[in-house]
This record gives sequence, C-alpha cells and structure tokens, in this order.
Amino acid sequence: MTVLFISDLHIDAGRPAIAGQFLSFLSQEAAHADALYILGDLFESWIGDDDPDPAQTAAIAGIRSLTSHGVPCFVMHGNRDFLLAAEFCRMSGADLLPDPLLITLYGETVLLMHGDALCTDDTAYQRLRTTVRDADWQRRFLALSVASRRALAGAARAGSQAHTAAIDYAITDVNTDSVVSALRGAGAATLLHGHTHRPAIHALEVDGRPCTRIVLGDWYDQGSVLRWDQHGPHLTSLTR
Ligand code: MN
Repeated sequence: MTVLFISDLHIDAGRPAIAGQFLSFLSQEAAHADALYILGDLFESWIGDDDPDPAQTAAIAGIRSLTSHGVPCFVMHGNRDFLLAAEFCRMSGADLLPDPLLITLYGETVLLMHGDALCTDDTAYQRLRTTVRDADWQRRFLALSVASRRALAGAARAGSQAHTAAIDYAITDVNTDSVVSALRGAGAATLLHGHTHRPAIHALEVDGRPCTRIVLGDWYDQGSVLRWDQHGPHLTSLTR
C-alpha cells in the first residue's frame, strides 16, 4: 500500500519525453498505488481548460485511465497551472486540492503545499502571485481569446525566467521563517512541497519539536517521486 507524490513535471508539447515518462509512470507504478498526488506544475503553462496542447491532452487521458481504474488522483495548483479548473477535473477524473492542505498518512499529519507561497524573500513574485490568484483578475483573463491568453502567458514566462536569472539563488528558495510558521500553524511535523526543483529531505526544529521538510524535484531529467508507505517516505528519481 503506497501513496505517490510528484510535482513540477512542466508538461507541454515542447517536452515530449516528460509526457512519455509520465504516461509510463501512470500505467505502471501509479496503477498499483493507493493514490497519486500531483503537487503543482503538472503543466508548463495552463491558460484555461479550453486550450490543452497535444502532450497535455495525452497526460489528461493518462490520468483519466488511472482514475477510471479506481486510483484517485489529486492535483494541486502550481504557479504555472493555477487556472486548472472544473473542465480539467471532468476530463481527467482528478480532484483539485486547496493549497495548503493537511492530510493524514499512516497516522502522521502531513502539510502539503506547492511551495511558491513559502518563497517570501521574492517579494516581486509574491506581489504577482497575489494578483493572478485574485478571482476578478482570473475572470478577466479567462474572458480573453485563446490567442491573447497565450501571448500574455508567453510574456509572463519570459519575464519570470529573466527575473529568476537576475536574482540570487537563495531568494528563489523557501524562507525559513515561512516554513516554520506554516508548520506551526498547521500543527504538523512534516511539510511536503515542490516548486523549487531542489529535491531533498531537511530536518528542522519548530518550537523544540523535530520536524521534516521534504522537497520534490522536477521531471526535467530526474522524474522525482516520493513513495510513502507504512515504513514512511522514500524520495527517489525515475531514470530515463
Ligand atoms: Mn512551481
């Protein structure tokens, strides 16, 4: 009995190898799991449920096959695919998760996040995040034509890449105080997130309690997967 966690696949038609690896993962390992959690950035970009590209359509069909065979799939929004909505759920059979979310795994309380909300040293990004997570902003954006939304998303991606390249590596990582306050507020000893593409298991203390922060990696080269069974979490990478 195993629960699987992945994040940051960044699937789009420009990265067919990732989509292919994801489809193999769905039909093999995930098919035997108790549940699959995707903690954000399944897709490189998502401008609305009306415009998946061929690789994204194939990924959705793969998730549909998994869920129709009785394996539940839970998807959290990432900073790239925060517009995943009801039609995506209908197509895939997946359920969207709020961020943050507390779950209980084998008796242990685990706090799940995408991770971008913890990167509070990057104040420019946090301002952008507040804007694009606003319901009115999203309504106005989704009312634009597909071509306009695609152009805006392309400009946003270029801007984000330039921003990340221009600032210090540490700024784009999680802020320690934000991690501590998330764990304290949730009353959890374990935080699991993605987003930073820096897979690791970190030990820390919160108010004298030993805690753990597990970071999922991306799927660019490594196919990062966390397997959680009765023996605890095991962070690993699929080879390609
Ligand atoms: Mn992300």
